[in-house]
Amino acid sequence: MHLPAPCCLCGVRTRRARLCADCRKCLADSMAGTTTRCARCGLGLAQGAACPDCSVREPAFDRVIAALDYVSPADMLVRRFKSADGVTYAPVLAALLAQAVRAQPSLAANTILVPVPASRSALARRGFNPAAELARYLSPLLGLPRRPGLVIRTGEGMRQASLPRCARMRNTTGLYRCIDRLDGRHIAVVDDVLTTGSTLHSICAELKAWGAASTCGLVLARTPYSNGTQHVSHHSG
Ligand SMILES: [Zn+2]
Ligand SMILES: [Zn+2]
Repeated sequence: MHLPAPCCLCGVRTRRARLCADCRKCLADSMAGTTTRCARCGLGLAQGAACPDCSVREPAFDRVIAALDYVSPADMLVRRFKSADGVTYAPVLAALLAQAVRAQPSLAANTILVPVPASRSALARRGFNPAAELARYLSPLLGLPRRPGLVIRTGEGMRQASLPRCARMRNTTGLYRCIDRLDGRHIAVVDDVLTTGSTLHSICAELKAWGAASTCGLVLARTPYSNGTQHVSHHSG
């Protein structure tokens, strides 16, 4: 049992690990409206529609597990996490993601958790890498090893949030490098928000080039489809 602490969404005192029963229900309800999803990337789709991302480009990842849709009230929670003093949200959000992972067909044994590396400017702005913090708490919850330095950035790239959908792929191509041979290992790439999947695709293509047997994405939140420049200000793509 946890000591009573303020719920990280509504502030009411709760014993339920910083998220009260009402807010847990709100978060679950916010996802219930999306009944059809892309089997590959988790994008919410209209009945019978092809995925606008996966149908254009075969993704390098095998599947994506997301804890939340990036809609109210989850978007507020994710924005707080990604603010400069948001690192204290990592344990409760990692627990939500762990719960989502457990609800899906299980990951391969000894899957390695690898966070998406942050740009230097994002690290300077925030003081921490949200993806790395999620992986840190996810690792003991799922009983899986993590390897934060396995994928590095080769440069800064542009902020994905500033780019229209069609430019995101070009921006992430060649931006990530794997530093070791993987010889048939299974890798789960951990990120905070998944938008077009360009970042995840680029990293997983690199991991497969280095011998990964399978790759998947474990993401805290999945944004709904938007055709133009992203309407959300804090995400990594
Ligand atoms: Zn609450
Ligand atoms: Zn898809």
